[in-house]
Amino acid sequence: MTDEPVADRGSDPGAERLILLLVGAVGAGKGTQASILSRELGLVHLASGNLFRAALAKGTPLGEAARGYMEAGELVPDELTIAMFMEELARPHAAAGAILDGFPRTVGQATALDETLAAKGERIRRVLYIEVPTEILIRRVAGRWVCPRCSTPYHEDTDPPKVAGQCDRDGVALRQRDDDRPEVVRARLDKQVPPMLAVIDHYEVAGIVDRLDGTKPIEGVTEAIRGRIGARAAS
Ligand code: AMP
Repeated sequence: MTDEPVADRGSDPGAERLILLLVGAVGAGKGTQASILSRELGLVHLASGNLFRAALAKGTPLGEAARGYMEAGELVPDELTIAMFMEELARPHAAAGAILDGFPRTVGQATALDETLAAKGERIRRVLYIEVPTEILIRRVAGRWVCPRCSTPYHEDTDPPKVAGQCDRDGVALRQRDDDRPEVVRARLDKQVPPMLAVIDHYEVAGIVDRLDGTKPIEGVTEAIRGRIGARAAS
């Protein structure tokens, strides 16, 4: 392990790709942080949940195979998930590096990822683990609503629409993602937190995990991440 700022090393021409992992339970804010960081660092944001939802919306065989697991709040089997994600990571959009969000979620996925990267002389540079207590997670996720037409997200507590239940932009009735309903959120946490903790343990062994307090406001968490990954990210 080294204290060298990872963002600086990622900018060297010919240097290995900068691959960062954002880990956190549903509602921890990893998607939000991943999109901020991907803009700041110029890296693609690869979110396994989004890839699965896109496959589902297009009705591809992968989407159909994942549907039942997603609706039950369960993890999609490793075999399908690893194949899908590795394909994304090999595409030209990830040539400079990537922020991985939602993958790996099991030790099997982590091992497959490590092996694929190692075969090319690459590795995960840092694992940013955003920690939030369970009850706060449930409240956060169960309060999320989205406009089905323009995809604008809202939150009952922190970002409510001007008129309850309606999108500010187009007045369309807001919807809750099926897997954001409180009972599904609990199921997702019960099933998904233990393997996530095993993934953290897996990377603790390599000494590359940074633990971040995810109860802070979004900007505070971003600031903490910038501090961990180096000064370049803060510019
Ligand atoms: P997310 O938006 O990351 O919460 O993902 C939505 C759903 O997609 C999850 O509840 C799982 O069913 C599935 N999924 C996403 N990422 C993975 C993964 N790495 N391994 C297995 N299933 C996943």
